Amino acid sequence: MFDTTGFRSHFPYFQHPDRVIYLDNAATTLKPQSLIDATVKFYQSAGSVHRSQYDEEQTALYEQARSQVRQLINAESDKAIIWTSGTTQAINTVANGLIPYIQSDDEIIISEADHHANFVTWSMIAQKCGAKLRILPIQDNWLINENALLVALNKRTKVVALNFVSNVTGTEQPVEHLIRLIRKHSSALVSVDAAQAISHVKIDLRKLDADFLSFSAHKIYGPNGLGVLSGKLTALELLQPLIYGGKMVDRVSKQQISFAELPYRLEAGTPNIAGVIGFNAVLSWLNQWDFEQAEHHAVQLAEQTKVRLKNYEFCQLFNSPKPSSVISFVFKNIAGSDLATLLAEQNIALRTGVHCAQPYLSRLGQHSTLRLSFAPYNTQQEVDAFFTALDKSLALLEE
Ligand code: PMP
Repeated sequence: MFDTTGFRSHFPYFQHPDRVIYLDNAATTLKPQSLIDATVKFYQSAGSVHRSQYDEEQTALYEQARSQVRQLINAESDKAIIWTSGTTQAINTVANGLIPYIQSDDEIIISEADHHANFVTWSMIAQKCGAKLRILPIQDNWLINENALLVALNKRTKVVALNFVSNVTGTEQPVEHLIRLIRKHSSALVSVDAAQAISHVKIDLRKLDADFLSFSAHKIYGPNGLGVLSGKLTALELLQPLIYGGKMVDRVSKQQISFAELPYRLEAGTPNIAGVIGFNAVLSWLNQWDFEQAEHHAVQLAEQTKVRLKNYEFCQLFNSPKPSSVISFVFKNIAGSDLATLLAEQNIALRTGVHCAQPYLSRLGQHSTLRLSFAPYNTQQEVDAFFTALDKSLALLEE
């Protein structure tokens, strides 16, 4: 059994009794004390990293974070862990970095399952390169249509950019299996958006066989403004840097500029040191908890919430085929924004809108959905409080 109370006690958010009931964890998670302590400690010290003798201690923590991320996702080397500002910047680093490699009439494949970070970025790169964009449909169970993928793959396919876990329905794509198919039928590079997967799936990058993998620290108890681009060293080496400047170079003269090795080649400028050192503390703390038990707890809460929601006559659920901690739903007779406003007035924090995934919402046939997303610190009492607030809101709206 997962020790929810113990886990929860590490989050200062819950020390304030007047706090809203936070059920929007797919947007961002709450922050543990370990992150706050490490961040404060960093800002109480002086200096940078990789610059001088006096910043050795900080540099060691900074590089330890890279090792911890490597272990978290089983990447092949610390050199294959590149700090970015988030998933969005990581995907943009891949997409822009491949511009010299993508010719006009090459092809790029994305899908309806994508967040705009993937959908828009690859659409713009296809446009810039004059490449053909193929958008795979998702089926009624929200899984990418495999036949459509097989039909789309050919020798001109340069990139397939896949969503791993959806932020709209929590649906997990069988990414490992899809990559195996892609390898069989093309020589395309595969980029995986793992923004949601990072906190729900035990990722094994080497087994997954993806060329690129992107995620954000803030979705797994870490700080804002920090993300990771990882992948195979051979693939990362193909990338032309997205930004240029200090620390990403080897030699600079008036005649010639040569770049540093990975990971530094893709990390120009002073990095988000506080973020990285804070994330290092978060990962050390997270290692003390059983990942599967924690996930199981969040999924169980979501699954029983789904069962209870099904009892409401006008409620339509958009469930993932596998149990998941994310629930998208609408009330057919009520505008989502009205319901969300009334719930917010009763201290329930959930999301309403298009979830940065308009093609997905079109596929669901909806202008917006309400979304609940659970984390391991959520409790049964919070689920009950949600239903009390929901009943009260519905009664008010039906008056
Ligand atoms: N992809 C998915 C599936 C996401 O859920 C998100 C965040 N909502 C992103 C990409 C973008 O992440 P970020 O805003 O942290 O760059």
